[in-house]
Amino acid sequence: MATVGILGGGQLARMLALAGAPLGLRFLVMDSADDACAGQCAPMVVGDFTDEAALAEFASRVDVATFDFENVPAQSARWLNERIPVFPAPRALAVAQDRLAEKSLFRELGIPVPEFVDITSRDQLEEAVARIGTPCILKTRRLGYDGKGQFRVRAATDVGEAWEALGAQATTVGLILEAFVAFDRELSVVAARGRDGEFRTWPLTENWHVDGVLSASLAPAMVDDALQARAVDYARSLAEALDYVGVFALELFCHDGELLANELAPRVHNSGHWTIEGAETSQFENHLRAVLGLPLGDTRMVGVACMLNWIGAMPDAGIVLRETGGHWHDYGKAPRAGRKVGHATLRAETHAELVDALQRVGAALGRESQVAPVVARML
Ligand code: AMP
Repeated sequence: MATVGILGGGQLARMLALAGAPLGLRFLVMDSADDACAGQCAPMVVGDFTDEAALAEFASRVDVATFDFENVPAQSARWLNERIPVFPAPRALAVAQDRLAEKSLFRELGIPVPEFVDITSRDQLEEAVARIGTPCILKTRRLGYDGKGQFRVRAATDVGEAWEALGAQATTVGLILEAFVAFDRELSVVAARGRDGEFRTWPLTENWHVDGVLSASLAPAMVDDALQARAVDYARSLAEALDYVGVFALELFCHDGELLANELAPRVHNSGHWTIEGAETSQFENHLRAVLGLPLGDTRMVGVACMLNWIGAMPDAGIVLRETGGHWHDYGKAPRAGRKVGHATLRAETHAELVDALQRVGAALGRESQVAPVVARML
């Protein structure tokens, strides 16, 4: 059976390896950290993504390569792609790595986006803030994730502080200024596209972030069919434009019934973790099926589901495990402030049952504030 190579050895690689075991797949993970958590579930090559000798060893031992991490240098992805098949293709990765390229593509495809301006100097930032208005957000074009590399400009007088925080990066990773969207909801569509162009999406998911990091996801999102269809159309047009192969997530803001695209994550996504227990086929299995050229699995849901992220440290497992539809995922990472160390998925047949389970778990863990917005959405 095939060996799948994964660049990046975090929890996404770990869950890919776990999903691939029943399919008889073997894995090889590459990461610069020898204690990367996927290494507990698959063999590893320890090395930097720019280290050609390490990349060559990796390439010699796998049949196909994919990513758990989108910030693998595009050059390394291209180098690998000259030797072995790499999915998604380096071009799709390069677009998704650059907020400016990504937003320009969204616009080209007719996918609405918050207003944005490429920023190269402080004067230009001042002009752009005056044009877009406040609040707005200054972000690094590349290498930002989970709210990192962002500065909220609340008033025109914040320009100096914003430039001080991120200005030095204008000439390295680049900067982009975006209008702040006073969204009603954050949604994501997780989609899979096979090598033959077969395209499937899981039901739209609603997401709640705390300090820029995902805190909870509810699936299916409680939105009407027209909105769901629009989100799927956007995801499909992106996948086709990029000739994308594998799973990706399109993050969207919903404001007054309008959908605005925030970003494209070219990999399995945190807002799709609920698919492990909540869908006929998980995002992890479908990603593997896609990159190997196998038929994609059905993406229909089994009931309703809520995923809760554990950030910093793992709470008491027993509280979730005693729930009928409670599922626990411990990534095997050392606790550290701000670090994603695990998640739980609560699955139920009805919204009423899910509300009950969330309220019980939230109260028992002292995490009422984490479950509250999800519960409020269902009441
Ligand atoms: P990002 O890294 O771009 O996904 O941003 C992380 C989170 O910050 C998002 O999920 C939103 O909660 C918030 N955010 C980012 N960009 C904007 C924006 N233009 N307007 C409002 N909130 C935003």
